[in-house]
Amino acid sequence: MYMGPSDGGQLMKNSNFKSSTNNEYIENQGFRTILHCDANSFFASCETTLHPEYASVPMAVCGSAEDRHGIVLAKNELAKKYNIRTAETVWEAKKKCPDLLVVSPTYGLYGEMSKKMNRIFYDYTDLVEPFGIDESWLDVTGSSKLFGNGHNIADSIRKRIENELGITISVGVSFNKVFAKLGSDLKKPNATSVIPPERFASIVWPLPVTELLFVGNSTAKALGRIGIRTIGDLACCDRNAIKNALGKNGIMLREFALGHDYAEVTPFGYEPEPKSVSNGMTFRYNLVTPEDVSFAITYLSMSVAERLRKHGLCCKNVAVAIRSPDQSTINRSAMLSHPTCLWKEISDTALSLVRANHQPDKEIYSVSVHAEKLTRENEILYQQNFFSEEWEEKYRKLHSLESAVDSIRDKFGKNAIGIASSINNRLI
Ligand SMILES: [Mg+2]
Repeated sequence: MYMGPSDGGQLMKNSNFKSSTNNEYIENQGFRTILHCDANSFFASCETTLHPEYASVPMAVCGSAEDRHGIVLAKNELAKKYNIRTAETVWEAKKKCPDLLVVSPTYGLYGEMSKKMNRIFYDYTDLVEPFGIDESWLDVTGSSKLFGNGHNIADSIRKRIENELGITISVGVSFNKVFAKLGSDLKKPNATSVIPPERFASIVWPLPVTELLFVGNSTAKALGRIGIRTIGDLACCDRNAIKNALGKNGIMLREFALGHDYAEVTPFGYEPEPKSVSNGMTFRYNLVTPEDVSFAITYLSMSVAERLRKHGLCCKNVAVAIRSPDQSTINRSAMLSHPTCLWKEISDTALSLVRANHQPDKEIYSVSVHAEKLTRENEILYQQNFFSEEWEEKYRKLHSLESAVDSIRDKFGKNAIGIASSINNRLI
C-alpha cells in the first residue's frame, strides 16, 4: 500500500476523476480499457527469429562502427544479466561480457515485424495507435463482449504474438494511456500487468517518478528539487508549487499521476493533415555542378509530391531553402499557376528558384524543398473548369503515372523505382 504523503488518500477521494472529464462516453459507460503492448528486446528478438541459436548466448544488436559508432541498440535476456545497457558502446559492453555476440541490424526486418504485430492487434480493435516501432496502444473498451476483459485480451494477444511471430511482448492494462504504458514496464518479458482504477494508487504511487510517461532525466531533476521523487509525491504535491517549478507541463504530469488522463487512442493509420510538406537533406557532398543541383531538387521534390498525394493534397506555393557551406541560408518561394501534387511541377519551380537566387559558381551545403499553401486535391479538380480540357487530361495522365509509382514504392520499397540518375549517385 502507498505510504506517501498523508493527504494522499483524501486527495484521491476529492479528485473525483470520473466526473471531471468531458468525455460523455466515459461518464455513461464507466472506464475505458486501454492496453499498451510493448515488444521485449525487440531488435534482438527479431534477429533470434532468423537465428534461433542466438537465444542461447548473450547477444546484442549494435549499429555498425561507421553508422552509429558501435552503439548497443538492443540486447537479449542473457546479455541483460551482464548489465549491458542500450546506447552504451560495443567496447563498454564487451568489457562487461567478453563473449558477447555482436550482431548488425537487419534493415527491413523490424519494420516488417512491427507491421505483423499491429495486424494482430487490429484483430481485436480498430483503435490501435502505434508509438514507435515496437509499441502500440489499443482501446479495447468495445471489444469485451467478443474477447473478454482487458486482462483476457492482453493474454490472448501475448500468446498469438508468441506463437505466430516468435517474439514476446509485455502488456499493461489500465483505464488510461499513461498507466497502460507504465503497466507494460512492470513485468518483463512476456507478462500482463493490470492497473485497475480502484487500486491504481497502491500500484503506481510508490514508483519513482521517472516511470511516468514524459518524465525524462531533466524533468526528474527539476521535480527532485521540490522534493518530488515518487509518482505519489507528484500526485499529492501542491498545484501551485508544481506550476511554479515546471509550468503547464508540471500541471499535466500531476494530472497524469492522479489518473486524469483522457487522451484517446488515435486509430491505426491516422495522421493529422499537414500544414506544409517539406523535405531537406545534407547530401554526402556539397552540390557543385548544375547536374548535382538538378538531381538534389528532383530527388527531394519526388518525396514531397509523394507525401502530398498520400494526404490527397496539392500545394499552391513552392519554397526552397538553400544553405551555403558558410551556413548562410537563402529562403525563396513562388506561387504556382495552379495547385499541384506532381513532382515534375514542384521540381521545375524549385529548380528555377534555386537558379534565380543562387550563384552557379558557389557550392551548396544543403537544400530543402517545401510545398506550402495546401489545399485538398479533390476540391481543385472540381474547380479547374477554367483550365483547358487539354491541360486537365495531361494533369490526370501524369497524376495516374505518379500514383502508380507511389504504389510500386509502397509495395516493394522506396528503392524499387526512382529516377535513373539516383542509381549509384555519389550524393546519396
Ligand atoms: Mg520495447
